Amino acid sequence: MKLPHHLTIKKGHLHISGQDCTVLAEKYGTPLYVTSEDRVCEQYRSYKKALLARYPKVQVLFAAKANGNLAVMRALAQLGAGADVFSSGELHLALDAGMAPEKLLFNGSSKTPADLKLAVEKGVKVSVDSLDELHQLDAAAKIAGTVATIAFRVNPALEVPTHPKIATGLATSKFGIPHKEIPAAYREALTCKNIKPVGLHCHIGSQILDVEPFVRAAEVMVRIAKELTTMGVQLEFIDLGGGLGIPYHHDTDPSPTPEEYAAKVIPVFKDGVEACGITPELWVEPGRSLVADSTVLLTRVNSTKSAHKRFANVDAGFNLLIRPAMYDAYHEVIVANKADAPLTTEYTVTGPICETGDILAMDRKLPPIAAGDLIAVLDAGAYGFAMSSQYNGRPRCPEVLIRGARAALMRRGETIGDITASMERPPWQK
Ligand SMILES: *Cc1c(COP(=O)(O)O)cnc(C)c1O
Repeated sequence: MKLPHHLTIKKGHLHISGQDCTVLAEKYGTPLYVTSEDRVCEQYRSYKKALLARYPKVQVLFAAKANGNLAVMRALAQLGAGADVFSSGELHLALDAGMAPEKLLFNGSSKTPADLKLAVEKGVKVSVDSLDELHQLDAAAKIAGTVATIAFRVNPALEVPTHPKIATGLATSKFGIPHKEIPAAYREALTCKNIKPVGLHCHIGSQILDVEPFVRAAEVMVRIAKELTTMGVQLEFIDLGGGLGIPYHHDTDPSPTPEEYAAKVIPVFKDGVEACGITPELWVEPGRSLVADSTVLLTRVNSTKSAHKRFANVDAGFNLLIRPAMYDAYHEVIVANKADAPLTTEYTVTGPICETGDILAMDRKLPPIAAGDLIAVLDAGAYGFAMSSQYNGRPRCPEVLIRGARAALMRRGETIGDITASMERPPWQK
C-alpha cells in the first residue's frame, strides 16, 4: 500500500512521523488517536506556498469542524491560520487557540440570536446565509453599537462528484443563497445601517478529488464579483471554501495537491478580479486536506471469529470514527505490529458497538490476526474524533499529539464519571 512519507514501516511496526505506533498504544492505551503535528504544519505550509506563489494576498482558514482539538488549532494558529467556524463553540475554540478575530469567518445556515450577538461582539466576519439572517444581524450589530462585516454564502448550483451527504453547493442544498439572487442580497445589505458587505463566500462540498469543480466555482464567484463591484460593493475578500479531497484508497484514488488546486484555480481567480479592477484577499477553507492524513486511530483486537466470514473485533467503533457507518467511507487499515507481513487473509474489522453497521473496514486482506494485535486506521484526522460520541456508554478515547521525538496527551481519555457528570437526578427520584 502506498503510504505518505510520514507513515513508515520499520522492523514490522507502523511508525507515524518516526514514532512506533505499538509503543504509543502501549504507553497510552487503546483506543487512541495519534496526530502528527509536523504533518499538519507541512500540509498548511504547502497550501500557503502554492497559493502565494500565484497570488499575493492569501488567507488559509482551517475548517474547525474537521478537528476541534485546541492543540491542532493552536499549531495552525501559530503558523498564521484563521478558521472557518460553524458555531459559537467553534468560534470560542478558534479564539482560545490564538487565532485573530479578523481571520475568522462565522459560517452557518441556522445561526441563533446568541450566535449573531457573539459574532458582532467578537468582531468576526459573518457569512450570511439568508436575508432573514441579514436583518437579524443588522439588529444585533445595532444593539452592540457596531457594524457587522459580512459576506453572503453563494449557492453556485454546481454538481460535484462526491458523496451526496457532503455536496453542499447543489442547487437543492440547504446552504447559501441561489447565485442569481446574490446581487439583490448585496443591494439589500447596502441599505442596512449596521452591515458592511466586504466579502463573497462559497463552499461547494467535501472530499472532491478533482480540481475542475473548484475552477467552475471560481468562475461563478468572479462573475458575481464583477456585478457586485459595478454595484459599488468593495470586496475585501473572496472565499472559495474548502473541500479538496484526500486519497482514502491509497493505491487507486487521485490525490489532488494544493499545488494542482492553485495551478488551476488561481489563473481564473486572478483574471477575474483583475477584470473587476480589485485585489481582494483570496480565502480558502480547507479542513480534511489539512488534517486527515496526520492522524491514525489505533485500536486493539479483542477477539477474532470465523462465522460466515472472518471478523476482527476491535475496541474502537463508530463511537470514535463514524465515517464508515455514516458515509460508507473507506479507511485503509494496517496491522501495526505486523506491518510487513504478507496480506493472506480476509477480515472485516468490527467495533464493539451494539449495531450491525459498526464496521470500520469491510473484507480487507490482512495478515493473520490474533487477539492483542494492534490495528491502525489511517486518515482519521478529519471528521474522526470531531464526530465521536459516547454512544453505548463508552467514554471517548484519548488523543495524543506528537512532534519530532516527543509525544503528549492533547486530550485525556474520558471516564465513566465524565459520562454521568452532566446528568441530573429529577427531584422525584431523590
Ligand atoms: C466543511 C466545510 C469546509 C471544509 O471542508 P473540507 O472538505 O473538510 O475541506 C469549509 N467550509 C465550509 C463552509 C464547510 O462547511
